[in-house]
Amino acid sequence: MKIKLLVIVSFFVMLCITAQQKTINLADYVNTLQGTNSKHELTRGNTYPTTALPFGMHTWTPQTGNNGDGWKYQYFKETIRGFQQAHQCSSWSNDYAVFSLMPVTGKLTLNENDRATRFSHENEIAKPYYYKVLLDNGITTEIAPTERGAHLRFQFPKGKDAFLVLDGYTGLSEVRIDVKKHRITGYVNNGRGMQRFDGNFKNYFIIQFDKPFNIQGIWDNTSNEKWDDKLYGEGKGIGAYLKFKQGQKIQAKIASSYISIAQAELNLTSELGTHKNLEKTKELAKKAWNKQLNKIVVEGGTKEQFKTFYSCFFRASLFSRKFYELNDNGEPYYYSPYDGKIHKGYMYTDTGFWDTFRGQFPLNALMEPTMHGRYVAALLEAYEQCGWLPSWSFPTEAGSMIGNHAISLLADAWAKDLKTFDPQKALDAYFHEATNKGPWGPANGRDGWKEYFTLGYVPYPEVREATAKTLEYAYDDFCGYALAKMTNNKFYQNIFSQQMYNYKNVFDPKVGFMRGKQKDGKWVPNFDPYEWGGPFTEGNAWHYLWSVFQDPKGLIDLMGGEENFNKKLDSVFTVPNTVHVGTYGGKIHEMTEMEMANMGQYAHGNQPIQHMPYLYNYSGQPWKAQYKIREIMEKLYNSSENGYPGDEDQGQTSSWYVLSAMGFYSVCPGTNEYVIGSPVFEKTTINLENGKKFVINAKGNSTTNVYIQSAELNKTNYTRNYITYQNLVAGGTLNLEMSAAPNTSRGTGKEDYPYSLSNE
Ligand code: CA
Repeated sequence: MKIKLLVIVSFFVMLCITAQQKTINLADYVNTLQGTNSKHELTRGNTYPTTALPFGMHTWTPQTGNNGDGWKYQYFKETIRGFQQAHQCSSWSNDYAVFSLMPVTGKLTLNENDRATRFSHENEIAKPYYYKVLLDNGITTEIAPTERGAHLRFQFPKGKDAFLVLDGYTGLSEVRIDVKKHRITGYVNNGRGMQRFDGNFKNYFIIQFDKPFNIQGIWDNTSNEKWDDKLYGEGKGIGAYLKFKQGQKIQAKIASSYISIAQAELNLTSELGTHKNLEKTKELAKKAWNKQLNKIVVEGGTKEQFKTFYSCFFRASLFSRKFYELNDNGEPYYYSPYDGKIHKGYMYTDTGFWDTFRGQFPLNALMEPTMHGRYVAALLEAYEQCGWLPSWSFPTEAGSMIGNHAISLLADAWAKDLKTFDPQKALDAYFHEATNKGPWGPANGRDGWKEYFTLGYVPYPEVREATAKTLEYAYDDFCGYALAKMTNNKFYQNIFSQQMYNYKNVFDPKVGFMRGKQKDGKWVPNFDPYEWGGPFTEGNAWHYLWSVFQDPKGLIDLMGGEENFNKKLDSVFTVPNTVHVGTYGGKIHEMTEMEMANMGQYAHGNQPIQHMPYLYNYSGQPWKAQYKIREIMEKLYNSSENGYPGDEDQGQTSSWYVLSAMGFYSVCPGTNEYVIGSPVFEKTTINLENGKKFVINAKGNSTTNVYIQSAELNKTNYTRNYITYQNLVAGGTLNLEMSAAPNTSRGTGKEDYPYSLSNE
């Protein structure tokens, strides 16, 4: 009996080992509807059910909102009005280069409101590699993505007329119907800010049907006029309609290009050409996602934690988007959204650095070093074409939010040995950024740069959100300094080293917070740490006190030592979740989200404070970081349509989860350190691009055993509160012993603390 049991156990162990080495089907654990139950007043992620390949150029989604509405898919809506090619990374910035298709049955209805059809979520499958919905009128739509295209399939009900409507969306479009070849070609030119550099930006598309249509025409969505039998149209909102034989299954292969219609054709051939049907495209897309998701294999934990992890890892693996295409010889080239010309090489877009410098790029640097190396090199290409380093590329440069965080990406890449660019060029570009103000957006160049250099801070109220800017400029200047130091550039090292402590100039020891400062050196009166806006960006003094990524030790000294610092960290979670709307004059969604999280002033729904729980590692109480991080992951994330505590923001809030669930987070990009928290799973295997593995074992881990008792890195006792990039990519094992009670002596030696400038 005992022998039999042993055999069975060994069999399962062997099975597990074999399973580990194979690609596991992880794509089916992803819910692309995570975070879609969002609206203007309250967002639970602000996402749409993205159907795309990892970092794919185009994405596809069902559309519940009006054309031009940034809220393109909202979970609580009851009708779908189209299936669209999308690129949006935030509802707030809206979308560009969009067109859509909508199947219609019975009577031909063109207008987006008239054709909107009811559906229910029970009839919906939403996976990264496949989307399917049965509409209440009996039409089924399926989508399977490729990098620059998609395979769509429409099953029409029997005995009723079958139509397909192409909607040219909100801007200029051109449509050409080829009856003989059963195809539509054309372009769209829509989106906010797209005309800044070059009005000729176009998204060329080809839609190839597998069946003939018998009636067709052109229509105009601005007037709702239609012209039967017309085969060509150009103008604002021009689209097309086709009538097919009743009851058929119609497949459409679609590809598009920013370069030319010929390149769209090449994209169609290379990505979809040989696919007989949607199943083939679906199978390859699933394979691509499983390959991507197997880069991190987690074991243990609950099913819900597993689903949350892979849903977040999926979302983190969408950004930044490829903006390049492959020519006849398979060489990369791209249409530059900055100068409107065609260039050789790589280009990426759709990211806002204010969000993503924190965790999304540090995750990419670890998991996608080749791509990230290309990314930072492309950043300098963009600088040459645009005249400015991007800060919010979408796909041109929007200059939204604050700071000059491109330098964070560049310094971070160098610290992580991704030396794919000329550091002198990077520093010159950053210097230009830091000593000029560009013509658009507050983060195009540096708002208040003169005052910042002469006074050592950005004055309020002369400059909006001035204190947040001072803090982030000081961090950026640290990144400039760090890159200069790593590359032995004494000139820039000297310049930026004079600014990187400027955070000290906006700390008021009397109130114990960062605070607005006037031009005359006096503090802005009537300080209220609960008041949002004013000298801060989408937050208050409780949130911005911690924006000293580069120098927590310096901040600890300002606050009178570790004890005070730790007390203040504790207070963030214990003070009431009071909101004073301040200069916003009314509630913005981030305020409501902080109230709902009910963790005091901890506002994980927005970026400024997301690194804060990790700061206990810098002040002798790492166990508190371990506890809080686990609590945040459990309480504020899940895999459902309500799965995020606020805007997801181009992979950032997902990357926070992915990194934290692995057991560490990038508090200070620009250094090579990831600061240790508490992993969710018993075992995490990082399958690195270089073929090596880094394994994190957390023995005894559970929702109650969240504390690290002891740690071994590669079988040697490890007391550090951080792990370096080089440790990780060398491959190895981090063994943690977890328990329900904190070990209050581990990680408390000064040598265990992560990087602080003041310790240099
Ligand atoms: Ca945000």
